[in-house]
Amino acid sequence: MTFIAKNRLTRRSELYRLEPYMSEHGLMMVGGRLHREWAATHDGPILLPRDHPVTTGTLIVRETHAVHAEHSGREHTFSLLRQNFGIPKCRGLLDKISKACTVCRRNNWVSMHQREALLPADRTCPGKPAFAFTG
Ligand SMILES: [Zn+2]
Repeated sequence: MTFIAKNRLTRRSELYRLEPYMSEHGLMMVGGRLHREWAATHDGPILLPRDHPVTTGTLIVRETHAVHAEHSGREHTFSLLRQNFGIPKCRGLLDKISKACTVCRRNNWVSMHQREALLPADRTCPGKPAFAFTG
């Protein structure tokens, strides 16, 4: 039974698009087109709150980012997370974690470019023609 069917979720809710439902074990799961398949196999992504310490802490998102995705890009980490978890607005959370990660900061480091000084006047003004001073 979905929350949407009971009219408990409004369209403005960030969970609305995930079509959540309560599993037999009391976990809030991500629904959708595969809901029937997941319910039959007791499998499917678990819906997690974005700002809970279990989600953002070392347990789930940071471990997926560091261990499973090995500090790769945001979308790769996001696809690995979506296999088991549904986290609303997860991409923003992954950006925040990637910015705070020292390994990612070191790997994605962009060097600063030093601004060059102006050229001296003798290199910019045209000089004497060739062979003006011979012999
Ligand atoms: Zn990282």
